[in-house]
Amino acid sequence: MERIGIILLGPPGSGKGTQAKELEKKFGFVHISTGDLLRKAVREGTPVGKIAEKYMREGALVPDDVILKLVNEALDGVDKFVLDGFPRNTSQAEKLDDMMREKSGKITKAILLEVTDDEIVRRLLARRVCPSCGRVYNLITSPPKDDNKCDVCGVQLIRRSDDNEDTIRNRLSVYRNETAPLIDYYERKGILVKIDAEKSPDEVFNAIVRVIGAH
Ligand code: AMP
Repeated sequence: MERIGIILLGPPGSGKGTQAKELEKKFGFVHISTGDLLRKAVREGTPVGKIAEKYMREGALVPDDVILKLVNEALDGVDKFVLDGFPRNTSQAEKLDDMMREKSGKITKAILLEVTDDEIVRRLLARRVCPSCGRVYNLITSPPKDDNKCDVCGVQLIRRSDDNEDTIRNRLSVYRNETAPLIDYYERKGILVKIDAEKSPDEVFNAIVRVIGAH
């Protein structure tokens, strides 16, 4: 059976995680987020976590060999997936192509979530996450019902440690220099689709569903 995958591309705060979670819930795509995998490794103090921690704190990219191993493991036995936060540079994209050849898989679409820089900063500074279940909130657009507590777990929400102004600036410049070239990469392959991601999460989701309709 052929594996199929879609890639969500876009700057930090463009809604990749939010949309990937919906795709998982509604259509059974397995959500593979390298950021989530790395944060888990850091929390658990694994060897990968120990390497990743300092890069993440600075908003820099974690070395490719670490990331590729994580993705390779995450893809094991999975036949329908959405990639969130990977690939992040051309070399990772080329390695992903190799992996797909080896695993008889195919990336059918790379969906670019477009958001302006001002909106990114606004969103990331207002982002809060539940340390227990990982649910993501935004204090302005999707606040929790009860004062800074998770609607599901009741646990106090926290800010991601890399959601501060200095690190955000760095992550944006890493995005521009290293990740944005992937827009061309997937355009040349004829699988890039751009979506206006400043709209509401529901509108963005509907646009994604139109794009992947056939699944
Ligand atoms: P994210 O949750 O996708 O915003 O990722 C948080 C941080 O994890 C990034 O700023 C990077 O330090 C690291 N990271 C996540 N995915 C990758 C990747 N594909 N390659 C390198 N570093 C990554």
